[in-house]
Amino acid sequence: MSLPTPSGLRVLLIEDQHDIAANIWDFLERRGHAMDHCADGVSGLARALQGGVDVIVLDLGLPRLDGLALCRRLREAGHGVPVLMLTARDTLEDKLRGYAEGADDYLVKPFAMRELDARLRALLRRTHAMAAGHGGPLAYDPRSMTATREGRQIPLTRLQGALLDLLLREAPRIVTHARLIEGAWGAQGADMAALQTQVYELRMLVDKPFAQPLIRSVRGVGYRLQVAA
Ligand code: CA
Repeated sequence: MSLPTPSGLRVLLIEDQHDIAANIWDFLERRGHAMDHCADGVSGLARALQGGVDVIVLDLGLPRLDGLALCRRLREAGHGVPVLMLTARDTLEDKLRGYAEGADDYLVKPFAMRELDARLRALLRRTHAMAAGHGGPLAYDPRSMTATREGRQIPLTRLQGALLDLLLREAPRIVTHARLIEGAWGAQGADMAALQTQVYELRMLVDKPFAQPLIRSVRGVGYRLQVAA
């Protein structure tokens, strides 16, 4: 891995197709990024877990461990590094599954190299803006179980607070229904109707009184918190 230029990113490319990998590597390196490459999912995950990577370009179809499983394991290990997923098919299902497993953006093959570079830079800007503002205009303090939005203090119940906390921590990624239920109700569990009721009440408190709704429903998958770019 060569030293990055000031504007360059440290890019980990996980792609098994040699010609595609070589094209991406050459292009991004010419654009000033420092490249690292793994050709299968297991070595890619191991490399990603070592850290020191600004962004991961991850192929969906990989030998040994596919892109979705890799992304899930990375998130389970607590790594928030932005992931741009490469897919061969432009289906909504693939896209939603990618987002549900923690991908931040995706590109369908074949794509223009310039678009890949632009998407990577946009992804990094978004991530940095989020880290600085931590969820933008909405915040939550678990100690006082109080949300804050536009200077207004909004007391929440324990369940509402747990749901908002999860959404904020993962924003702008989707949090699946199952994860929200597990995070808020724990071992006790809950059904979809209970989750929907709590999210509805949370929206009435933190979204309804304001101009821009932030909690978005992703049908059949989960919820996500919209964050200003
Ligand atoms: Ca592949």
